[in-house]
Amino acid sequence: MLDTTRSEEAFRIACRVIPGGVDSPVRAARAVGRNPVFLARGEGSHVWDVDGNGYVDYVGSWGPLICGHAHPAVVEALCRAAQQGSSFGAPTEAETALAEEIRRAYDAVEMVRFVNSGTEATMSALRLARGATGRDYIVKFEGCYHGHSDGLLVKAGSGALTNGRPSSAGVPKDVAEKTLVARYNDSESVAALFEEYRERIAAVIVEPVAGNMGVVPPDPGFLLDLRALTLEQGTVLIFDEVMTGFRVDYGGASRYYGVLPDLVCLGKVIGGGLPLAAFGGRADLMQGLAPLGPVYQAGTLSGNPLAVAGGLATLKLLQEPGTYESLFKAAADLADGLEGIARDCGVPLQVNRVGAMFSAFFTDEPVVDYESACNADADRFARYYRAMLEAGVYLAPSQFEAAFVSTAHSGQDIAFTLEQAERVLRAL
Ligand code: PMP
Repeated sequence: MLDTTRSEEAFRIACRVIPGGVDSPVRAARAVGRNPVFLARGEGSHVWDVDGNGYVDYVGSWGPLICGHAHPAVVEALCRAAQQGSSFGAPTEAETALAEEIRRAYDAVEMVRFVNSGTEATMSALRLARGATGRDYIVKFEGCYHGHSDGLLVKAGSGALTNGRPSSAGVPKDVAEKTLVARYNDSESVAALFEEYRERIAAVIVEPVAGNMGVVPPDPGFLLDLRALTLEQGTVLIFDEVMTGFRVDYGGASRYYGVLPDLVCLGKVIGGGLPLAAFGGRADLMQGLAPLGPVYQAGTLSGNPLAVAGGLATLKLLQEPGTYESLFKAAADLADGLEGIARDCGVPLQVNRVGAMFSAFFTDEPVVDYESACNADADRFARYYRAMLEAGVYLAPSQFEAAFVSTAHSGQDIAFTLEQAERVLRAL
């Protein structure tokens, strides 16, 4: 039995001063029927909690840690940057270097603006699209999550979905009304909205691989259809690559699927585990931003030197030859292994994977959209989650989240995880 005495105590104390004891709802692990473990340390593919229990980690800070925890090259870059001063609120050469690197990776990106979180990136990209088109409506997809700004908490995924509140209280009705919702992998549902709101839609925002209702890959043609529909009506196509950026390919889903959006939102990996995000795209659109254009957007800590240093060091590591091949092989070994074990154990399990992100859904139907994701057996997942934690495997405490494999996960880590999964699935 896992001894989590100190975590339980830490949680009790945290709950006195922090609502729900957490700064982001999914961390609370309520959906899987337990309290969270408090983490103290991470190294490579492993994390340790405050009671000293070690786990193989597939959360990776929810995506950023594609090179694992405390990678020496990242730590060194951070130390060096910290010694030079942690923040200036003035431009630095390193920001330009990171912007150039992003432009090199993304064909769709000519200019980049850095912000602090994925929420800010999507919120700002939408304002830019509205400013450029002079239109108010936006289209998002059921089960996609784009951060917690007002207009995007409508049928949202991730913690909103896990906690059974896909739309939030506190969002003005007039704001929510401007968000039209379509079905993921269903271009017809988008075409119907375009028909109804002819030339009033500023932007379509999509996770090009959905990751916040669990991983749901786009059907062949879905992203191309979105590109064609938006071009037809002068609507800005925004790929929210906060999760997929530099994870499903160095050039993200845009490169992987060969579709060019007008704007791209990035986060997670580009900060190497520090708070950094960005949005970028066509220069004519990006030049609409203050101080050049009329769309206001700003940030005291935007392009923070530590975060930029963490991002640059991470992207440098990712460019080493063979990195993505071995990363994807590890992810495939794990995803395929799980699928095989589940089959042998007679447990209905659908494993969806793109690159180094995947989800295992407890259902016998393919998961292709929000509705099919919601059909997955949440109680079974909760039992699986708790047993895997006991066994030393740290997963996201929700079926509607992705598992992230890093370059630090060894063959031994994967083999250990599969062994534990087999034992757990047999007993479920
Ligand atoms: N977009 C996507 C696709 C995300 O996965 C997330 C976070 N999981 C966000 C936006 C929001 O990013 P942040 O939590 O940094 O605000």
